[in-house]
Amino acid sequence: MSTNRPRAVVIGAGIAGLSAALRLHQAGWDVLVVERTPSRRSGGYAVAFAGVGYDAAERMGILPELAKRHITPDRMDYVRPDGRTRFSVPGRTVRALVGERSLNLLRGDVEDVLYRAVTAQAPGQGSGAVEIRFGTSIARVEQDPDGVDVTLSDGTVERADLLVGADGLHSATRRLVFGPEDDVRLDLNHMAGVFALDTLPAGIEPGVTASLTDTGRTLAVVSLGADRAVAFFGYRTERPMDELAEGPQVALPRAYGDMGWVVPSVLDQLTRAGSVYFDTISQIVVDRWSRGRVVLLGDAAWCVTLFAGYGSALAVAGADALGAALERHPDDLPVALREWDAEIRPEAERKQKLGRQIKGLYAPTDRFSLWVRDLPLRLASWRPVSALLQRRLQLLS
Ligand SMILES: Cc1cc2nc3c(=O)[nH]c(=O)nc-3n(C[C@H](O)[C@H](O)[C@H](O)COP(=O)(O)OP(=O)(O)OC[C@H]3O[C@@H](n4cnc5c(N)ncnc54)[C@H](O)[C@@H]3O)c2cc1C
Repeated sequence: MSTNRPRAVVIGAGIAGLSAALRLHQAGWDVLVVERTPSRRSGGYAVAFAGVGYDAAERMGILPELAKRHITPDRMDYVRPDGRTRFSVPGRTVRALVGERSLNLLRGDVEDVLYRAVTAQAPGQGSGAVEIRFGTSIARVEQDPDGVDVTLSDGTVERADLLVGADGLHSATRRLVFGPEDDVRLDLNHMAGVFALDTLPAGIEPGVTASLTDTGRTLAVVSLGADRAVAFFGYRTERPMDELAEGPQVALPRAYGDMGWVVPSVLDQLTRAGSVYFDTISQIVVDRWSRGRVVLLGDAAWCVTLFAGYGSALAVAGADALGAALERHPDDLPVALREWDAEIRPEAERKQKLGRQIKGLYAPTDRFSLWVRDLPLRLASWRPVSALLQRRLQLLS
């Protein structure tokens, strides 16, 4: 490459892509981020952010900003189809259950913190630290011993030392370099749908998370105070890719139309929702996350799924470890990528295994399994246990 600083092109401005941009910039790389959507996504679903991701966020200097966005529900209500409460868990008990060094964040808020960090102006410079090109996709990849040429949908060709594919579960980078998605995608036979509600359905109090689970499907309404609420759908299906092709406006009313509770109000709001997240719950299984100068990161690489509740954390930790490996081996990319893979793989595979185990418990099809699933939460909602958990939290803080 002609400049002294190595250069990376990162495809995708989600949590994985923005984390990679930040960490590589911190490691002294020039970075271009390419994002398909015309502008930044906002909101999204709530993610638990802990473990290796929390540690990495601390090292990368974004933890204080993330901590400001932490949200805890005032209460979690588990309801019956007629809206009556089966049991409730107070917010302070939820906090005690989640534990220390753990945050509950909206995905959009994590992206916002990362975006601000990567676009902050370096002292004395007129532009942001990292360039982000919206409304642009990846079209072609060609590698040679000295670099990689990335052809973008706008016709430009970007030369780089490293291409990071952080473009999610249905990664185009992965398809172009590693082969067809069908060869590496493991469907867990569930769908997830999320969208922002403009009106809190009647019967749900501001600040409360209320959820109903019956026969292989869950609906949760997550209220984050007076003006922010999201509806979250998760359900079983034997034909996930067909559901995906049909889209949320067809698939969600069919799966939930007879559920009762606040479903009519929520489905009514679905018809006028601006943006709806709707996807299969699937993992990615590849034996090596890099090919030459192309490396996959985040959901494009492993997608541990929401069942593991760890994808954001692993995306940030993966980016941090990638930056560290490149710092350790500035002149030996193959060694850096091999070391990085070996470091992240055990944790990613552990979480993938956990995701596959949890799949059966997520939206049980019979009442007994539901009762077993809810037992720990029911215990936590019991006043003496709740008090004990809260005391433990006070001792720790
Ligand atoms: C409902 C739900 C709940 C979850 N809960 C948790 C949780 O509790 N804890 C947790 O840690 N994780 C959770 N996760 C997982 C977590 O959200 C993801 O693992 C994490 O956000 C990392 O995503 P990513 O950046 O790899 O991919 P994505 O978020 O999919 O981002 C990919 C980006 O690439 C862009 N893109 C796609 N294709 C192209 C292209 N061809 N060209 C350019 N750009 C492209 C997309 O527009 C997007 O901006 C949850 C996920 C879901 C769906």
